[in-house]
Amino acid sequence: MTMANITRLRKNIETLKAISEPCNGGVTRIGFTPKYREGVEYIKCQMREAGLDVVEDDIGNIYGRLAGKNPQLPAILSGSHLDTVRNAGAFDGIAGVIAALEVARMLRENNIQLDHTLEVVGFIEEEGTQFGIVLLGSRFITGEFTEEDYDRISNESGETLRDRLQAYSSDNKVIPARRQPGTIKAFIELHDEQGPLLENTHSDIGIVDNIVAIGQMVVNVHGFAGHAGTVPMTMRQDAGVAGNLLATRLTQYVIDRYPETATLTIGKFHLEPGSANCIPCECRFTLDIRSGKAAIVQEIISYVQSESIEVARHCSVAIETEETSFKEPVEMDGTLKGIIKSACEECNLTWQPMSSGAGHDAMIMAGISRAAMLFVPCVQGITHHPAECIPWEDMGKGTDVLYNTILKIDRL
Ligand SMILES: [Zn+2]
Repeated sequence: MTMANITRLRKNIETLKAISEPCNGGVTRIGFTPKYREGVEYIKCQMREAGLDVVEDDIGNIYGRLAGKNPQLPAILSGSHLDTVRNAGAFDGIAGVIAALEVARMLRENNIQLDHTLEVVGFIEEEGTQFGIVLLGSRFITGEFTEEDYDRISNESGETLRDRLQAYSSDNKVIPARRQPGTIKAFIELHDEQGPLLENTHSDIGIVDNIVAIGQMVVNVHGFAGHAGTVPMTMRQDAGVAGNLLATRLTQYVIDRYPETATLTIGKFHLEPGSANCIPCECRFTLDIRSGKAAIVQEIISYVQSESIEVARHCSVAIETEETSFKEPVEMDGTLKGIIKSACEECNLTWQPMSSGAGHDAMIMAGISRAAMLFVPCVQGITHHPAECIPWEDMGKGTDVLYNTILKIDRL
């Protein structure tokens, strides 16, 4: 059986790891920067060496194409993103691009020409570090964003996407980012799990069922300011105490009721006036609620609302809750999931179904194509951190499954 070349995978990933802004032991390669361009040029060079025809689109996604026997057929796409968060690990996104590139190399070495063209894709700005908009590259592919958004999207320094694109532009062949449904047969993304489940259950591969529903809320608590030393404890309308009580009750509720099926995160917590000798008059915090089931997210949102009323009464404050966004879960394609399963079995590897708690380009690509994802283990679930690690052997196993999956999709 054909196996991925682990030495080659490792060399590509380690070379890319070194293409980074100076940072604290990790990798920083943010979309539309000179470092990002350097990383992209390295990958393009690797794609050409593998015999692929390289094109870049007008938003900065790159493609390495391995022509199929029948150019009329829609293409099979595989890849992930090439940008990172600040001080990231070396695997998030990059692993999926390099695995797809390795599949193309394996096909060529075995003299296999697929019926469909295989396109190895590297998406730009999935992490949203440059413009605060996640999944930017793939959203231009599906048409959710268009050239009309070039002047609307800007970064913290006030530079627009149009400005950045001018500075970033390439001399290479450039095609329009937008792809039409029907031109893509399937999109398949390998990614590290970014969680500890596969490692804990000793599974080789995670087959993603869906990418979770995400509800985001802001909670505003209005109390009454006062002197820390003169207002008796029983006469206060302390927004900080009420906010903390509510935050603790909500967290405990999710731990007790949905220990494995939902998450609730309070990532921002702000008190006003914010001085040591003042009773807080305002407390504002965010809630990020995720689950593979939209109904669970909705149920937690209802609980947030009812518990807010309860805590407001108990603490003599006013509490407002606002639902700022709600994203439905995105189901991965059933046929492709079945194909990944049989590819795992052929490779003699164990697998388990799972939800993805993080968003991925695959959820955007699912809007114009069949899409699926396979996860490979990630040591201790550490991610967005310099210590992020996919053991090389697991990287090889994941690539073997991807190779077999793509062969099967070609015959579909
Ligand atoms: Zn990623």
